[in-house]
Amino acid sequence: MFQSQVVVLIAGLFALQMAVVCAVLRRSPGMGRSGLSSWAAGDLIVTLAVVLLAAHTMRPDLPLEAVPELLLTGGLSMMVYGMRHFVGRPGRGLVLLALNVPGLAARGAAAIDHGFAPVAHGVSMLHAASGPAVASLTLAASVVQILLLLELVRITVPRVPAKRGTGRLAALSLVLVALACTVLIGMLIAPSVVMLADGRHLPAVTSHDGIVVLLVFGMVGLSVSFALMAHDRLRRMLERRARHDDLTDVLSRGAFWEELELACKKAERTRQPLTVAFIDLDHFKAINDLYGHLAGDSVLRHFAGLLRRNAPPGSVAGRLGGEEFAVVMPATTMEAGRAASLRLNTLVRATPCPSEPDPISYTVSIGMAERHPGENADAVMRRADRALYDAKLMGRNCVSSHDSGDVPGMPRRPRVREDERPSPDGAVKPRP
Ligand code: GH3
Ligand code: MG
Ligand code: MG
Repeated sequence: MFQSQVVVLIAGLFALQMAVVCAVLRRSPGMGRSGLSSWAAGDLIVTLAVVLLAAHTMRPDLPLEAVPELLLTGGLSMMVYGMRHFVGRPGRGLVLLALNVPGLAARGAAAIDHGFAPVAHGVSMLHAASGPAVASLTLAASVVQILLLLELVRITVPRVPAKRGTGRLAALSLVLVALACTVLIGMLIAPSVVMLADGRHLPAVTSHDGIVVLLVFGMVGLSVSFALMAHDRLRRMLERRARHDDLTDVLSRGAFWEELELACKKAERTRQPLTVAFIDLDHFKAINDLYGHLAGDSVLRHFAGLLRRNAPPGSVAGRLGGEEFAVVMPATTMEAGRAASLRLNTLVRATPCPSEPDPISYTVSIGMAERHPGENADAVMRRADRALYDAKLMGRNCVSSHDSGDVPGMPRRPRVREDERPSPDGAVKPRP
């Protein structure tokens, strides 16, 4: 035998803890507008409902009547509102408020019917109010709770396939728990619905301790699942921030280097070609001096956008620092890599960075190297850097390649192909 009010109180404590967890998650950077506040508030309201429910069963003379149920509906509404924000589809706040009207009406009717007279009830939230009219309205509120839970399911289901790992599990568990709660409320109100369908009056009080206890834990389960979803989002966001450059959203230097080392090891293992491109914006200091540092930042962002959208499939782009970028192209020969770099060079020249009052034109120099067998990331990047240096020597705005195994310290040998040099009007000649 269990004392249901004690179990309900324990569930209330869990719910309180989940509200705290949501509030703590909300304070993490980037989580300010993810619906966690609304969910935490909804969770607190549900906690209050649970505590009142337990208090009512311990002290049946307390004039609580339909209050726990009213609070439960309100709390669920806040949770749905929070979830809508979490998935980036805010709104419908007024609809949710309107959905709470039956609960409010039930409470008002209960007050009028009984002048707040104490009524002895069982644990049931759903039929705590006495009197047939109040019971009907209370039933309506239960239907609203079912609608809210189904809305929660509807919003969350599309997230399940979109997520991976913990996020998918959390979304799936939220859907399952919400469906379970829907079934539990359905079981609670089924007898009343049958009575109404038969034209009979609703009984003032029904008690389903076991189902209500399960339902209360279901509410806690919803919060646990939501907190796990939020935590998964936070983890992914922090991981992304750690690996990506703030300004340009391509990989940061460390993450790029890791990718390059992995790609080199894989190329060695699979004996596939690998080509890297080292890119530097030309006369970038002059752009800063002429247009200002903020405009310079816009140019960096603009270039990174072009780079991301036009890099060959499977390649990885990163910002090595300042106005220097690099692209690693796995399973790509020098020929194919050079063709891609030429396209990028031409595209950059043809696409000035939008700015007021005039767009800012800029160019890039690109140094290329194809990995030799046994060469590590450091060696291949050093050769690409040397090729870039050659491109600068050759007058900038061009693509240069380094395909000999020169020993570091040997005199540099320009490798810019005649057909890849810009013509005086800036256009790169097409290769034969
Ligand atoms: P070159 O054609 O030889 O590459 O000349 P450059 O002017 O592009 O190269 P230099 O190394 O002389 O200048 C690079 C400038 O890039 C200097 C620095 O102020 C600027 N810079 C570095 N990081 C940033 C940044 O994040 N934003 C902006 N706006 N400027 C930056
Ligand atoms: Mg530069
Ligand atoms: Mg530079």
